[in-house]
Amino acid sequence: MLYGALEAGGTKMVCAIGDETGKIYEQVSIPTTTPDETMPEIISYFRDKGIEAIGIACFGPIDLDRKSETYGFITSTPKTAWKKFNIVGYVEKALGIPVGFDTDVNGSLLGEITYGCAQGLTDAIYLTIGTGIGGGVMTNGKLLHGMMHPELGHVIIAKRSDDKGQCVCPYHDSCLEGLAAGPSIEKRWGRSAKELTDDAAVWELEADYIGTALVNYCMTLSPQKIILGGGVMHQMQLFPLIRRVFKEKMAGYINTKTLENLDEYIVPASLNDDQGIMGAIKLAIDAKTELL
Ligand code: ADP
Ligand code: ZN
Repeated sequence: MLYGALEAGGTKMVCAIGDETGKIYEQVSIPTTTPDETMPEIISYFRDKGIEAIGIACFGPIDLDRKSETYGFITSTPKTAWKKFNIVGYVEKALGIPVGFDTDVNGSLLGEITYGCAQGLTDAIYLTIGTGIGGGVMTNGKLLHGMMHPELGHVIIAKRSDDKGQCVCPYHDSCLEGLAAGPSIEKRWGRSAKELTDDAAVWELEADYIGTALVNYCMTLSPQKIILGGGVMHQMQLFPLIRRVFKEKMAGYINTKTLENLDEYIVPASLNDDQGIMGAIKLAIDAKTELL
């Protein structure tokens, strides 16, 4: 059986066709401009592909409350053309097949849970550190939506006194995204994160902020694994530094067997940056199964 997957991002829309094993047969990328321009291109890609359902892992904030009148809408995004756009309704109407829908980061987490490094787990977190910071959460075997959906990038953490940079979040004086996402690194050090690989001070500070946030997530959500993805996490030297900060700041308060091996607890994404699109396949499978 074939399924469609749409990883809807603020800069590009990745469209793919796959099957229930997570195998991706083909994939294209369409620039995200305006709904009027971008959506017809997406639909014409998926039409006549013989897909049974489609999953959308979407940038947000989005409305995931099925009882809400605006379920399936992108809500208050700074990308104004997409504000209040009913992406689920549009795709459902155009293709006439079941549509699964969740956040981009819940999609990536679902990909890792279904096909990747978190298989068999019921509680896990996927954090992406790129242009922004966002996190997907699974608790007790279900993707967490709650009132809306978690916004792990905007947890408030203290700016370090020796940090000469600024929190670049327009909402918060001192939040994780504002202190540690790619644009913040670039602003603080005057060069793009990619060009700073050899500067130890950059990654020591970065790991301090990320490690602190992970302690907070561990305390509040009790995940069995934390997966870190996104452009910034391609700097693999961050992993041991983050684990060290995590251990120091945890200070032995939680000492489960799982936390004894932090190499297996705080891990890189495992699906070659296909975790989002593979998660969207699973959203499609689940949308189809729900109707059976
Ligand atoms: P997006 O978040 O827009 O989906 P990415 O996850 O690639 O895309 O994140 C882009 C951000 O990550 C940019 O700020 C960029 O500077 C940073 N980045 C991308 N690749 C790397 C890398 N190899 N090392 C460090 N930072 C990177
Ligand atoms: Zn913020």
